[in-house]
Amino acid sequence: MDARSCYGDYMNAPTLPDPLPRTLERWLTGPRFAALPTRDADHPPPLLSFEFFPPRTEALEQQLWTCIRRLEALRPRFVSVTYGAGGSTQARTHATVARIVRETKLVPAAHLTCVGATRDEVDAVARQYWEAGVRHIVALRGDAAPGTTYEPHPGGYPFAADLVAGLRRVADFEISVAAYPETHPTALSPDADLDNLKRKLDAGATRAITNFFFDTETYLRFLDRCLAAGIAASVVPGIMPVTNLAGLQRMAAISGVRVPAWLARMFEGTDDDPELRRMIAAVVTAEQVRLLQANGVDEFHFYTLNRPELTHAIAHILGVRAH
Ligand SMILES: Cc1cc2nc3c(=O)[nH]c(=O)nc-3n(C[C@H](O)[C@H](O)[C@H](O)COP(=O)(O)OP(=O)(O)OC[C@H]3O[C@@H](n4cnc5c(N)ncnc54)[C@H](O)[C@@H]3O)c2cc1C
Repeated sequence: MDARSCYGDYMNAPTLPDPLPRTLERWLTGPRFAALPTRDADHPPPLLSFEFFPPRTEALEQQLWTCIRRLEALRPRFVSVTYGAGGSTQARTHATVARIVRETKLVPAAHLTCVGATRDEVDAVARQYWEAGVRHIVALRGDAAPGTTYEPHPGGYPFAADLVAGLRRVADFEISVAAYPETHPTALSPDADLDNLKRKLDAGATRAITNFFFDTETYLRFLDRCLAAGIAASVVPGIMPVTNLAGLQRMAAISGVRVPAWLARMFEGTDDDPELRRMIAAVVTAEQVRLLQANGVDEFHFYTLNRPELTHAIAHILGVRAH
């Protein structure tokens, strides 16, 4: 639309400058937003879950527990602990989850993968979790070591859907699985990936948690595609508060996530200023979750990276308060 002809509709319009100042041109021709709608007081605050990774050193253990204690006050519905390939990483996941059961009021969810283990071995780990009081598993295929391609273990669960079915036989776990709004990088097609998600839910998972994403539209369209495919389970958005663009770009490249140009531009020139990066991260993430909330999303899973501040701030903005 031509801004000048719009402006002509206004009574007593002064003579227009030429060219029009950009703000005026945008005001006359673009959509108008007064504010993002807020949820009113009658709406309960959203349900949150937080993801941690098991620490490798004593110092990181301290950091993790400071993070857990601070976020515990937000009463998340569960906290999950990631699982890596290899014995020592797996032991650390188990130790962290067991300590959460023993020392906190939090409900833990243990991540479990198919990588490098027979079905019996995976079942045995699941049984240990059940015996330790863990009732929720995040069931994943897992990835091969960097530089190699994933090959199912000859006696193992080949894919996450098979693991979900196996876990169902072990005990009555609540099971969450992974979903990919931008499609898993090795999927044959977006539709094949969606069929796979449906298979995981049909096999007995109760919810999906998405990989992180930055394009809200992509996630919302993914929800539409899930519904059209007959998926009625929650597809909880995975939220990644970003403070390190280089690290994010590496992770995003591995997992097929698009880092929009506007996000990269936001962090330009901030390499030497961690405080500035944190403030930008808070704003970017707050805008993302507010937009999702305005679209009716009322469950969020935060990739905390074992740091509580940003997650706490964003949870507060979403309406969740510490108790
Ligand atoms: C919320 C979340 C948490 C995560 N936590 C961890 C973690 O703790 N530890 C870790 O190592 N990784 C973790 N990951 C990463 C995950 O392991 C990788 O993304 C992995 O590559 C795929 O796992 P999946 O469970 O989605 O696999 P699957 O659902 O099995 O899918 C893997 C790929 O195989 C395809 N596929 C599935 N079944 C078949 C079939 N029968 N034939 C052909 N193709 C098939 C799918 O379309 C997809 O492309 C996590 C990811 C998310 C989103």
